[in-house]
Amino acid sequence: MPAVETVLGPVDASKLGVTLSHEHVLVGMGEDNKHYPWLFDWDLTKANTIRELAEAKAGGIGTVIDLSTPDLGRDVSFMREVSRASGLNVIAATGIWRDVPRSFWARDLDEIASIFVREIQVGIEDTGIKAGAIKVANDIGGVTPEGERILRGAARALKQTNCPISTHHWAPEQVGSRQVQIFQEEGAPMERICIGHSADTDDIAYLETMLKTGVYLSMDRYPGAAGRPSWETRNATVKALIDRGWVDRLMLGHDYAPAPIRAGASAPASPGPTRYLFVSTVAVPALRASGVSEKDIQTMLVDVPRRFLTGSAD
Ligand SMILES: [Zn+2]
Repeated sequence: MPAVETVLGPVDASKLGVTLSHEHVLVGMGEDNKHYPWLFDWDLTKANTIRELAEAKAGGIGTVIDLSTPDLGRDVSFMREVSRASGLNVIAATGIWRDVPRSFWARDLDEIASIFVREIQVGIEDTGIKAGAIKVANDIGGVTPEGERILRGAARALKQTNCPISTHHWAPEQVGSRQVQIFQEEGAPMERICIGHSADTDDIAYLETMLKTGVYLSMDRYPGAAGRPSWETRNATVKALIDRGWVDRLMLGHDYAPAPIRAGASAPASPGPTRYLFVSTVAVPALRASGVSEKDIQTMLVDVPRRFLTGSAD
């Protein structure tokens, strides 16, 4: 099987195992982790993240796709360290999230693409760690002019490298339709693209409209949050899509990150069981109980993410 780039180097795709479609091992909005490091206790943060990733590994997870970008405080050295210590595969991303840096606002689209291509083919910073996915993000209010530039740059980088795109989108406003439209305008291969946070809506017609263009859907953000669909509603949406024949296009995840521990705090805010295991310990058993087959569960947890990452039908 082809190899997939992780923060520890290439891994044979057959070894990825259960793969969570949209996660983070560290999130630093505003790049606070880089600019204001004294706000956090990095020894405790690292130890806690390793504990959670090791717990996920012991619970049967093989790989997480970490969709952190520079504007989310992406730190591939941290990612490499916690991956090595926990034994969990971590895949890093290139791309840009919602906070498009001012330097990208007027940057030529092909130059944007070339930045992403460099992180895919050469590596991120001087670490040699290669990105395995391209992240883009559009939220409430839809695709902004600068967000559109990132989408077009990402589509061009995908066309040059075959590295897949994974999006963040605001499903209640159907922002995914605009993402799909822009990718189509760029002539991107739609079967190399995943529209993320799609379980934030239970509008099957909307989700099917996107699926019919060839994209994958990441059914993530389990277990839900205030004002958003509950995990039971997310499961019902997943089940409805499976019943309509879409299991080969669905992946599951949490969009979880252990919160960095503040300086002076003695322990993580939530020292309980890691949320990386909510899907496999709560959502999947409930899907099984509702009649989803073991084969379909394996398809969503193992086969679809592998195909998404490699671009191979195996
Ligand atoms: Zn995310």
